[in-house]
Amino acid sequence: MSEKRDYYEVLGVDKSAGDKELKNAFRSLARKYHPDRSTEEDAEDKFKEIQEAYAVLSDSEKRQVYDRFGHNGPSGSPFGGFGGGSFNINLDDILGGDFFSSFFGGGGRRSRSRGNDVIVRYSITIESVFEGTSEELEIDLPSKCEPCNGTGAEDGDIISCSNCGGQGKVRARQQVGPFVQDVIRDCPSCSGVGQLIKTKCKTCNGSGQEIKESKLRFNIPRGAEDGTRLRMRGKGEPAHRGKGENGDLFIELEIEEHPWFERSGSDLIMSLPLLYPDLVAGTTITLPHIDGTELKISIPKMTNSGKTIEIRGKGLPRIRGSGRGDVVVLVKLHLPKKISKADMKLVKQMNVELSQDELQERVIKDAKERRQ
Ligand SMILES: [Zn+2]
Ligand SMILES: [Zn+2]
Repeated sequence: MSEKRDYYEVLGVDKSAGDKELKNAFRSLARKYHPDRSTEEDAEDKFKEIQEAYAVLSDSEKRQVYDRFGHNGPSGSPFGGFGGGSFNINLDDILGGDFFSSFFGGGGRRSRSRGNDVIVRYSITIESVFEGTSEELEIDLPSKCEPCNGTGAEDGDIISCSNCGGQGKVRARQQVGPFVQDVIRDCPSCSGVGQLIKTKCKTCNGSGQEIKESKLRFNIPRGAEDGTRLRMRGKGEPAHRGKGENGDLFIELEIEEHPWFERSGSDLIMSLPLLYPDLVAGTTITLPHIDGTELKISIPKMTNSGKTIEIRGKGLPRIRGSGRGDVVVLVKLHLPKKISKADMKLVKQMNVELSQDELQERVIKDAKERRQ
C-alpha cells in the first residue's frame, strides 16, 4: 500500500489553517471529486481521502491528536486513533443545497419529469435527398392517456405519498467506505412523484400512456447524410404521470443504396465497366441521373482502365456552402463472358496494330506510374 498522505497536504492547506479555510478547501475538492459527478478515474479514492482528511482536521480534538502523532495515532490505526471508524460528514450542509439539488433535486427532477425521447428510422432514396422532399410518416407513438389526463388514476383518485410526505424525495444515509454521508434520493414508494395512485385508470391500467397513431410531416434537408437525426420537439413519450413535458422524437434518416452510386459527402462515385473497343475509340455514355436529367459521361479515346473522370457540379447539394458536389466515374475494363470467332479474329488483328511497344517497356512504365 502506498504511504498515507499528510492530511494538510491532501486538502492543500497550511498547518495553521483555520476552520473556514479548511472548509473552503474541502468544499472545492469535494465538488471536484464527488464520485457522482467527477469523471476522473480515481475520483472515489480521492474523495475518500479528502473526506477522511477533513473529518479529522475539522474536529479540534482529532486534529490535536493528529498534529502530535500524525497518522500513527495512539491506537495504531488511523481510524482507531481518530475514533469511531466512521466519519459522519453532512455533505449537504457543507457543500450547500445547490450542489445536491443540481443532481439529486432540480436536475434530477427535471429529467424525471420529462418523457423519454423516441427514435425512429426512416428510409429515403438518394433522389429525395437531392430534392429535399417533404415526407409524411404514420407512426404509433405513446401519448398521454386522455381519460386520466396522463395521471394513471381513475377519476383523479390520487393520494399523497406518506413515505415522503408528498415531497418525492427522502434523505438517506449512505455508507461510502468508512464514511457515512447524507444523500437525498427519490422516494422508493412513489418513485419520486410524491403521489400514489389509489384506483388505476381502466384505459391505460395506471401507466398514464396510450399508444396512438400519429401523422407527422417533415422535410428532408437537401443533401442530408445517412444517419442525420431530425428532432421533433415534444413528439416523444409523455412525462411520467402527465407531470412535465413530453420527450422529443428523433427521425433518423437511412439513405437507401443507389443501384450504382456510392456517396462521399456531396460527391457521387461510380464505376463504369466498358468494353475494350469503347476504351480505345472513346464513347459517350448516358445514364438516368438522380436530379431527373440525364448524366452524360464522355470517354475520350485511348482511356485506360483505372482512370477517373470527374463531372463537376453533378453531385448532391452541399450541406455547407452552395452548389453541388461532383460525380466521379472510375473507368474499368469489362471483358465479355463470350466472344464470337469473328470478333476474336478482329481483336487479334487489332492487337497486332496497337501493341507496338515492347512488353518489358510497358511493364516498367506501369510500375513507374503506380509508384508516383
Ligand atoms: Zn414518496
Ligand atoms: Zn389513463
